[in-house]
Amino acid sequence: MSALSELYQEIALCQRCEVAKYRTKVVPGEGAEDADIMFIGEAPGWHEDQQGRPFVGPAGLYLDQLLASINLKREQVYIANVIKCRPSGNRDPLPSEIHNCHRWLELQIELIHPRMIVTLGRYSMAMFFPGKSISKIHGTAQKQDNVIYYAMYHPAAALHQQSLRKVIEADMLKIPSILAQAKSITEAEQQPQQLSMFKD
Ligand code: URA
Repeated sequence: MSALSELYQEIALCQRCEVAKYRTKVVPGEGAEDADIMFIGEAPGWHEDQQGRPFVGPAGLYLDQLLASINLKREQVYIANVIKCRPSGNRDPLPSEIHNCHRWLELQIELIHPRMIVTLGRYSMAMFFPGKSISKIHGTAQKQDNVIYYAMYHPAAALHQQSLRKVIEADMLKIPSILAQAKSITEAEQQPQQLSMFKD
């Protein structure tokens, strides 16, 4: 059994939050264990809670389309959420839930070891870009410890607000070139390169 599957078993036993009592299934995350790109959403919704899989409702179908626009299938990336159990009534995650679940996400990142982490929406953005506003930083990347962090709007927001569709679609289309630059920078470590796309 892989370390990631063992982690899923541990997550399934987690009872740290009240929401654990009401879940149908825990939603740890899924995708390629050696994925270059990890997408991090907010929390499972009704569909995810039923199936135990992330992003399988309407926002997930849209995420699949966004991935297809850069020739990726969900099996080629890794998809997780900030919290692993569905908050009742689809409310926003509580700070205590985010805090309690944080360790699981950290372990997932350690095991997947992605080159690029794409935050979907403000909750995952807040973890990696504290104090920033999504309207200002969406579509921009930052590099730290050889990992690229890239903020995008949440696909559900774009479904509800038509004007965000073009924005999220354009932001998704930037990912391949950012990732290509990230790869070249790690491969050519002895010859540091200037990457204009990465903001300080
Ligand atoms: N929204 C999320 O943030 N995550 C999911 O898994 C589904 C919808």
